Amino acid sequence: MNDIADNLAQVRQRISAAAQRCGRSSEEVTLLAVSKTKPASDVEMAIAAGQRAFGENYVQEGVEKIRYFREQRQTDLTWHFIGPLQSNKSRLVAEHFDWCHTVDRLRIATRLSEQRPAGLAPLNVLIQINISDEHSKSGIALEELEALAQQVAALPGLTLRGLMAIPALEIDYHKQFAVASQMAVAFGRLKARYSTVDTLSLGMTDDMEAAIAAGSTLVRIGTAIFGARHPAARPAQ
Ligand SMILES: *Cc1c(COP(=O)(O)O)cnc(C)c1O
Repeated sequence: MNDIADNLAQVRQRISAAAQRCGRSSEEVTLLAVSKTKPASDVEMAIAAGQRAFGENYVQEGVEKIRYFREQRQTDLTWHFIGPLQSNKSRLVAEHFDWCHTVDRLRIATRLSEQRPAGLAPLNVLIQINISDEHSKSGIALEELEALAQQVAALPGLTLRGLMAIPALEIDYHKQFAVASQMAVAFGRLKARYSTVDTLSLGMTDDMEAAIAAGSTLVRIGTAIFGARHPAARPAQ
């Protein structure tokens, strides 16, 4: 087994152990492999090891990989845009990705909806919540969620699937769990209101266990699968 296949097996093991500890089925948790800054050859190794869902932070880099794998006739992959989104890049996201996790204002949601090609299924979107990191400019406050969700849910080119957050770096499990639980409560309320909502995107390499215990349905894992990035950095906010 190569490193990436080996790492993937270990991550799947971590997910199922975390799910089992809190009485959840590991099938409730989707593993998103975050391949940002990594070459297509790394993605190929992950595909060979059975991985199908990939996350990218940078629009141009993501679109290049999506095009490459489409040319290889590898059509069973799903691509998630998880980076900060500027208006001038929204068209590329709408035209190429299957999901966007970082919707945090009506203007970007409207553009994505208008720019989603008619021949494609609506773009799956998550609303990003700024749950703990006051220094971050990305994401809305929980108090703003109800209004934005209502507007996003009404847009024809989008399907509102749930919530996403990037909590501030925290190494203490109990603190990670407390923040993740706030997200889970908001997610539960949204799910009760919208039948399309089924996804809580929460948990990275260093906090996936706490996120799963709180109720995450999708963990975004980069380092534990593909190794450290250069320069190793926290996600751009
Ligand atoms: C880079 C990134 C990840 C993956 O982080 P790791 O700590 O490498 O697992 C997850 N989510 C977002 C939004 C990211 O930018």
